[in-house]
Amino acid sequence: MTVIDLQDAWTQFLDYAKKRSSKAEYQNWLSPIRVVELTPTEIVLEVPNIFVREYFLDNYEEDLTSFFPGLTSNKPALTFIIKEEKKTPKPQAPLPPKQQAPAFKAALNPLYTFENFIEGPSNQFIKSAALGVANHPGKSYNPLFIHGGVGLGKTHLLHAIGYSVMKHHKKMRVQCITTEAFINDLVDHLKSKSVDKYKRFYRNLDLLLVDDIQFLQNRLNFEDEFCNTFEALIHQNKQIVITSDKPPAQLKLSERIVARMEWGLVANVGIPDLETRVAIIQHKADAKGLHISDPIAFFIAEHIFGNVRQIEGAINRLIAYTKLMQIPLNESMVEKILAELFQETPHEKVSVESILKSVASIFEVRVSDIKGDSRTKQIALARQVAMYLAKELIDESLMKIAASFGGKTHSTLLHAWKKICNDLPKNETLKRQIQMAKRNLHQS
Ligand code: ADP
Ligand code: MG
Repeated sequence: MTVIDLQDAWTQFLDYAKKRSSKAEYQNWLSPIRVVELTPTEIVLEVPNIFVREYFLDNYEEDLTSFFPGLTSNKPALTFIIKEEKKTPKPQAPLPPKQQAPAFKAALNPLYTFENFIEGPSNQFIKSAALGVANHPGKSYNPLFIHGGVGLGKTHLLHAIGYSVMKHHKKMRVQCITTEAFINDLVDHLKSKSVDKYKRFYRNLDLLLVDDIQFLQNRLNFEDEFCNTFEALIHQNKQIVITSDKPPAQLKLSERIVARMEWGLVANVGIPDLETRVAIIQHKADAKGLHISDPIAFFIAEHIFGNVRQIEGAINRLIAYTKLMQIPLNESMVEKILAELFQETPHEKVSVESILKSVASIFEVRVSDIKGDSRTKQIALARQVAMYLAKELIDESLMKIAASFGGKTHSTLLHAWKKICNDLPKNETLKRQIQMAKRNLHQS
């Protein structure tokens, strides 16, 4: 055979092998083989590892000889060179199998415990569901799906469940992972052709905590694997907890996965109300060695109401300031230090009617009493407060506003406003009542 014939024979052999094997098989086992030497009596092949050599010998040695009549299978005419590993060190040396299993991707934050999670009407339900799951993993709500806005404690609760389970059920295998890390882990295992290991790891868990599932949106290739893991665990009564910025139905994910996420309990963590914010402020500050009095805590909570992360930012700022200045906090200092963080409540459509309703409920009188002429102390005070708020908050002529109070005059209104302005700095209760009335206004 000439050299050309030989090469031709090799190409024909490869074509033949290609037809006999699946695409993946061909890719994995045959295409990495390189011909180093080709003579009528000897073929030297370079292979990446001994597995490829074994595969080749098991499956193709005999067939090969039929393409090269000069070779016989009982002669050592077929030689393999194992391609040397490149001398440059690989970024990661292969680990022994035990260590290759993915470790904790999102280490649990030691501060995110149930004890540190302040409860209030906005999160009571989800906290007790989380506690239920932590006490009886796989036996209460499965999956538990926690959704809510940024900085409201979803990750905190997720970690709290992880901690509690690791503490009380020591043998349970727990994995807490962000959706990003879950995907990256899968990609790594796909690259290193070790998806089975990945599957084995995740499907052997007792508790899987997945943070921020919204990042699975637009990652179509990964939805199926997530869903399969999910189903495998649920079918074995292994617990899954998922957090998300939206409820399942609002996520742009396949119907299959949305349905799975709705299997168990879907619950929301909301914005904490004023009293809860006060408790959070005091708890967080105490933990950092700063005592914040009730009035100051209320003052901060009145002005920072978006989410808990902002509250933490405010506390850190106050701590830095007090450390530097070595003086106790007062309201006007706090106002200055936190000015940029303070949020304005939206002043939309405040009407005399809404003020009347709000004030009436706080002073426990009727709207008709405020509009009437009674001079009983409680009613008169409620009327003055309502007039004060109306002048402060409504951009209308005093005459027009006063007329809405059952036909009072603008001088009555002005008198009431002055009286309240005068009393406010000396009267803490009055201040609180007015703040509450304002808040009700924005909530109604
Ligand atoms: P999310 O994951 O919902 O964006 P996080 O769980 O990261 O929010 O919470 C943001 C910060 O606010 C964390 O430091 C967390 O400890 C704190 N936090 C949120 N809610 C509460 C709460 N109810 N009690 C105490 N801390 C809270
Ligand atoms: Mg989070």
